[in-house]
Amino acid sequence: MRDHNDGAQYDHRSLADLTWCRIRVVCLVCRHHTYLQPTELAKRYGTKGAWRLLIPKLRCTNCGLKKVEASAERLPRN
Ligand SMILES: [Zn+2]
Repeated sequence: MRDHNDGAQYDHRSLADLTWCRIRVVCLVCRHHTYLQPTELAKRYGTKGAWRLLIPKLRCTNCGLKKVEASAERLPRN
């Protein structure tokens, strides 16, 4: 079954569209991973444009390099 995790180049959602998601960030260098809240990213970067354009700006908090991959995971509504 296909979802937004497939074909990331077709993911044009903005941070405002990810209210019910968390963003999983994985460092390609040291494999450190963390979760970011879209609302926190929106405070820093705004909600204009596709959220994936922010990924190159994200810095690994473990090794300090900007080589990360990220995907939006849908949270259960509670
Ligand atoms: Zn790292």
